[in-house]
Parts: sequence; C-alpha cells; structure tokens
Amino acid sequence: MSRYTGPSCRLCRRAGAKLFLKGDRCYSEKCAMARRNTVPGQHTQRRGKFSEYGLRLHEKQKLRRIYGMTERQFERFFEKASRMPGQKGHNFLQLLERRLDNVVYRLGFASSRAQARQLVAHGHITVNGRKLDIPSALVRVGDVVAVAPGSKDIPVIRENMEVASARSIPEWLELQPERMEGRVISLPSREQIDVPVNEQLIVEFYAR
Ligand code: SF4
Repeated sequence: MSRYTGPSCRLCRRAGAKLFLKGDRCYSEKCAMARRNTVPGQHTQRRGKFSEYGLRLHEKQKLRRIYGMTERQFERFFEKASRMPGQKGHNFLQLLERRLDNVVYRLGFASSRAQARQLVAHGHITVNGRKLDIPSALVRVGDVVAVAPGSKDIPVIRENMEVASARSIPEWLELQPERMEGRVISLPSREQIDVPVNEQLIVEFYAR
C-alpha cells in the first residue's frame, strides 16, 4: 500500500486528536480540530464506542499516521523493536523518534514530518557531513544532522527555523541554529517523546 496523500486534517478528525500533520496551521485557530472536532464524512455526529480490538486498532492507526508511515514500514519497525531488549512499547517509540525525517522535524528544519521527509528525500540534509536521502534511516547518539551546505539559503528552511525557535527542541537533541545543525545527545526517554498514544495498546494489538 502506498503512502496516504489525502487530506491530513481528516486523519486528526478520525483519530479524535491533534496529530500535528500540517505544520504551523496546527498551532493556529485554523486547525480543523479546533473548528470541527467531529468524525469526517456523513453521520459526523457519531463517534461510537470502541470494541477491545477497535480501541487497539485506533491507537495503532493514530501512531502510524503521526509518523506518516505505511502499514508495512510500521510493522517492520515494530518487529525490530520486539527483537530489542527492554520494553517493546518504549523501544518502538524510540525507533520511530530516531527516524531521520522525525529528527529533521524535531530540530525545526521542517514544519511537519511530511515536509521533513521531502527535505531528506531531496538531498537537503546531511548526517555526519555526508548527504543522506533516506527518511527512515535511524540516527544514533553522537550523530550530527545538518542542512546541506548548498541548501542553507532555502527560504522555507530558514522560515521554519524562525518559527520553531519559539517551540522547544527535545532535550535529547542539541541545536546550533547559526550552523543549521543538530546533534543527538542521547536516546529519548518516554517522557521526552510527546506523542499522545498509549503504546501498550499497540503492543497488545500486534500480540493478538
Ligand atoms: Fe490536525 Fe489541526 Fe494540524 Fe489539521 S491543522 S493536521 S486537524 S492538528
């Protein structure tokens, strides 16, 4: 299945939560969740009760949409997390956070993960001084993620960084705005991953 390219706000309304898929708009009063927090489509008033399975499915879909991944990619990440020592749910979230497109978003080079994915895929990002155009690549502690030398004047990246400077960078990352580069100083703890999901329900979804 290919990546979802339909209306982003519809996904938030379906999830019943803000998933922050559209950059600055998500922080403005134009946010569809602020204006019309109902299920999309016909029968918009109905937000039915979930079955046990439905609840777990709903949580899984929410997390998958936050990171903009296909079902297959998402499952592969979960399988990888399952093979790691420690708590599956936390490992899973940590792997998702370590994706290069997510780190580019977290550092404020992009206004959304979708835009970050595009910046990476178009070769505007380097890791440890070398161009890396794979959005799903995983960063490690000590890696330096930077805007490529030839891309530092791209207006949208500069604008994003200005807007993002008002928001805080997660503590597991360190940003040097004047150099347009960031460093991974540790792996994120659960408290440092601000995604509104119950990861235990997702573990139970895949364990069924
Ligand atoms: Fe979701 Fe609001 Fe952003 Fe649309 S603007 S993607 S509804 S958070």
